[in-house]
Amino acid sequence: MNMIESSNIANTPLRGEMRLQVDMSKHTSWRTGGMAERMYQPADLDDLLVYLRGLPSDEPLYAVGLGSNLLVRDGGLRGTVLLLHGTLSALYLELDGSIYAEAGVPGAKLARFGALHNMQGAEFFAGIPGTLGGMLAMNAGCYGSETWEKVLRVQTVNRHGEVNIRTAAEYEIGYRHVALRPSSFPANEEWFVAAWLQFSNGEGESARQAIKALLNKRVATQPLNFPNAGSVFRNPEGDHAARLIEACGLKGKRIGGAQVSEKHANFIVNTGTASAEDIENLIDEVRHTVEQQTGICLHPEVRIVGEKKS
Ligand SMILES: Cc1cc2nc3c(=O)[nH]c(=O)nc-3n(C[C@H](O)[C@H](O)[C@H](O)COP(=O)(O)OP(=O)(O)OC[C@H]3O[C@@H](n4cnc5c(N)ncnc54)[C@H](O)[C@@H]3O)c2cc1C
Repeated sequence: MNMIESSNIANTPLRGEMRLQVDMSKHTSWRTGGMAERMYQPADLDDLLVYLRGLPSDEPLYAVGLGSNLLVRDGGLRGTVLLLHGTLSALYLELDGSIYAEAGVPGAKLARFGALHNMQGAEFFAGIPGTLGGMLAMNAGCYGSETWEKVLRVQTVNRHGEVNIRTAAEYEIGYRHVALRPSSFPANEEWFVAAWLQFSNGEGESARQAIKALLNKRVATQPLNFPNAGSVFRNPEGDHAARLIEACGLKGKRIGGAQVSEKHANFIVNTGTASAEDIENLIDEVRHTVEQQTGICLHPEVRIVGEKKS
């Protein structure tokens, strides 16, 4: 673990944007959910450190990128949401050929940047509508690639505003799972602010073609015309959640405005009026039915946070 000194920012005024009572339906791809008590969008990394250093030690904090894997319950989120999308957007090539990207960089931009620099292996990021921070937190992946396979080092910040550089060896990394090892700082009190990523040499034009092909495949197989959060459940060992859900006759199943997609059974779509409660109830219903009929317990991949509406 390598701690970076940034004492020169000690008495700097905040430059980011603080908002109160923020509607989280505007910050989640499901387009529903309650209010965040406070939301802070830092101007940049230094500003984030200043903000964290001035924060009361008991203030609950929750990082949000593009909210593409997130259900915020209708009663809302207590404390402060750290909005990292639309900021922390530095993206450049290092002298050693690796890519330095800050946590707010969207997957599509990362994929295009890789292609621009004739790299191979960044294409899959184009299909994931999240930020690099969210992709690191989830070990997001598709078409046989995962985020952490590409990571040389990450830069993190904890709630005291201390910056660390960490390697993959400091994390427990698996399928849609990333956690700091027990001997380290509690994972939920440390956030990703950047990463150095390594890709192999390739050819820009073939990377662009691969990106195009995977985006076409997504349009053909995913219900992108309705708000959704991608795959709701993790695939169980040796099987596919979508296959199990379909086999249980749940395609098209509705609760309120939430519906199991007719196009892809592991997607739940908001048909327009879904509350977070409708979506959570449908998730529970799908889990229950699949377990009853097949004996397999599905686990949500999406993160469900906040308070239920009283
Ligand atoms: C249409 C669609 C297709 C999708 N396809 C895929 C796919 O193919 N593969 C896949 O893996 N996922 C997929 N997803 C899910 C989602 O895009 C990914 O999980 C993505 O990594 C989430 O990034 P985000 O920035 O939106 O994170 P958010 O949804 O904002 O947050 C997700 C989690 O990450 C945490 N987090 C966010 N930023 C940070 C940070 N900087 N530091 C620490 N923790 C942080 C949040 O607290 C939360 O727990 C899809 C979603 C949609 C809507």
